[in-house]
Amino acid sequence: MNKYPHLLKPLDLGFTTIKNRVLMGSMHTGLEDRSKNYQKLATYFAQRAEGQVGLIVTGGISPNIRAWTAPMAGFLKYKFQTKRHKLVTDAVHQADGKICMQILHTGRYGYHPFILSPSGIKSPITPFKPKLMTARDVEKQIKSFVNTAKLAQDAGYDGVEIMGSEGYLINQFLVKKTNHRKDQWGSDYNNRTRFAKEIVERTRAAVGTDFIIIFRLSMLDLVSQGSTWDEVVTLAKELEQLGVTIINTGIGWHEARIPTIATCVPPAAFSWVTEKMRPHVSIPLITTNRINTPELAEQILSSNKIDMVSMARPLLADAHFVKKAIANKSDEINTCIGCNQACLDHVFKNKRATCLVNPLACYETEYIIKPATQVKSCAVIGGGPAGMACAKTLAERGHNVTLFEASAQLGGQFNLAANIPGKDEFFHTIRYFKAQFDKYQVNVQLNHTVDSSQLSAYDEIIVATGVKPRVPNIEGINHKKVIIYNELIKKEKLAGKSVAIIGAGGIGFDIAEFLSEDHSLKGSKDDVYANPKAFCKEWGIDMNIESEGGLIPAQHAKSPKEIYLLQRKTGKAGKGLGKTTGWIHRMALKKRGVKNISGCSYNKIDDQGLHITLKKKNETDQNMLLAVDNIIICAGQISVNALYESLKDKQSCHLIGGAEYAGELDAKRAIKQGVLLGAKL
Ligand code: FAD
Ligand code: NAP
Ligand code: SF4
Repeated sequence: MNKYPHLLKPLDLGFTTIKNRVLMGSMHTGLEDRSKNYQKLATYFAQRAEGQVGLIVTGGISPNIRAWTAPMAGFLKYKFQTKRHKLVTDAVHQADGKICMQILHTGRYGYHPFILSPSGIKSPITPFKPKLMTARDVEKQIKSFVNTAKLAQDAGYDGVEIMGSEGYLINQFLVKKTNHRKDQWGSDYNNRTRFAKEIVERTRAAVGTDFIIIFRLSMLDLVSQGSTWDEVVTLAKELEQLGVTIINTGIGWHEARIPTIATCVPPAAFSWVTEKMRPHVSIPLITTNRINTPELAEQILSSNKIDMVSMARPLLADAHFVKKAIANKSDEINTCIGCNQACLDHVFKNKRATCLVNPLACYETEYIIKPATQVKSCAVIGGGPAGMACAKTLAERGHNVTLFEASAQLGGQFNLAANIPGKDEFFHTIRYFKAQFDKYQVNVQLNHTVDSSQLSAYDEIIVATGVKPRVPNIEGINHKKVIIYNELIKKEKLAGKSVAIIGAGGIGFDIAEFLSEDHSLKGSKDDVYANPKAFCKEWGIDMNIESEGGLIPAQHAKSPKEIYLLQRKTGKAGKGLGKTTGWIHRMALKKRGVKNISGCSYNKIDDQGLHITLKKKNETDQNMLLAVDNIIICAGQISVNALYESLKDKQSCHLIGGAEYAGELDAKRAIKQGVLLGAKL
């Protein structure tokens, strides 16, 4: 019997049936922006359709160039452009899938000088000031939406998703914050919603009845002067009357200062918003944000208040997510860990999206895993992300693989990462690889530290021995107050009431988060990383949505410890953190009262604490004592590569992951190196 009956139940829309309740949510990959990449895009979507996704939504396609996300982004305005989209729709239909095209007009969020908006008010996240739309502009943009929907239909799409949330143009018309107009497109709510309603009404008239129209409705803006719940409900009811087939949920504008999809957001943290809409409309409702396992999706759908679950990043991480759920093999799903490092962070840097745990994503035509032509015996040394990824790929291709790990468990530093508050999903990656090792019969040897004398029988040796912490040369570094980050996370040593953290890189920030959390709350109703109610209280989300935009004063708990986070560089700490997540870490620590000290040098550590010198521009240096109980060392890492050095001239030997380069290394690079090496040996 299948474990996910609600998830796998077909959804009858009258004129068509969606085979299950999984919507692959819209995600910009960068492939949409160039016609030469449409074959790659087609293969990317076809693999998800083969993986049995119920309904796919493309990344946003603009109706014209004023609506672009950035210069040269994808748009669909002319008949000749439908040819490239046909590649996509044909590939998906051949795989027995269904696909809608998202129509995205960025309004003031576009990153180029041609942008427009209802009131010409600049957004805080783009440098360009938008042109104030005249009534003629408004009319032109509505027609442009309708034209694009019709062209999407001609290109063979099963429907369109009209992007009305996340702070894009339609959303900019809806709220007082960005719509100060006094004409028929502004002032009262009826006028502010007119733009959205005209687009829907005229689109339905143009495409006929048997074509899916999804409207992505911003149910919770999370910005000041946003919509109230009564307004959202009023619009939803009107959209239903005007011919929308399905309403999808939008949570938070891009400029909102509340995390909505990062790892620190609890699982399914916003499904309550979609559930609140259930009594008000009878068309299907889709919920979204931080849903990444079939178990969680099943639990949400079994309330019978929600009809579909949107997952975007989880389908980047594993194209066959649904197929594995159908086969009751959820342990084999490569789970999205919500890191944003290879998907959103890439998109915001204008790079092609991919996935930290699945580097094949969006490279389906370029990185291909083929059966080995000559079966070899391979030894992989080190069971961290790099070694696990390589061992899995080699074994999948038919090689005989032995994976040696010195410690008692697989995962390497991911075991440490997973202990950081809000990062416990990193354990999913370890679980996934373990299931793959069973499937492809990798010989896993735990508690086995390998030296060069044990490796002569192997055809290929892959050294993935990782990193060890860098211990800086500071007077008193061996003092009993000093704790290295791994000793702290493993609870080999405990920190006192006050601490100074040396190093404000990724691990320094994680340690500050670890120390500033009240660990006694873990698993309780007040756990902000697990419980949506506690999370909403901490970040100031009004669960009644009575206030405009759903905002109330945030109630961040103060750190139970006094914490200093130090770096030698001047300037803002955490500059190198992820593009889309760094601000969350910086803000969370600030609200908890963690103090940053930049531009310091470390003089000595003694019974009194940490002695530093603070360097300030145009001021004399200032000596300071931080009278703390403990000093935690997070000063970067160094490669462990002695084994490789001893082998490289004797046998066919390869060095990957942190063992190869510990500088700016992260798991994205480690896993990609492991997979690509595994694919070519
Ligand atoms: P490691 O994970 O170091 O694994 C090496 C393995 O080799 C170890 O298990 C070790 O026991 C084994 N080994 C060593 N020598 C031998 C031997 N002779 N014989 C057998 N086995 C041996 N990265 C991110 O991208 N995003 C994050 O958010 C993130 N957060 C982090 C948080 C923390 C607290 C930490 C510590 C790290 C974090 N990282 C993060 C970094 C990430 O974990 C590493 O980049 C990644 O683990 C490197 O993988 P690796 O396989 O090269 O090495
Ligand atoms: P890191 O990001 O390189 O940071 C090292 C920190 O230590 C810096 O603040 C550096 O700042 C300081 N430092 C370096 N050498 C020092 C020395 N000799 N003495 C004193 N301070 C020194 O390394 P990390 O924090 O150890 O992280 C390791 C890897 O894991 C990184 O590649 C990171 O990407 C990854 N990671 C990522 C995340 C994430 O959220 N994406 C989280 C954790 C880890 P100054 O030189 O200015 O003092
Ligand atoms: Fe998920 Fe991270 Fe992959 Fe993005 S990069 S899809 S957040 S695992």
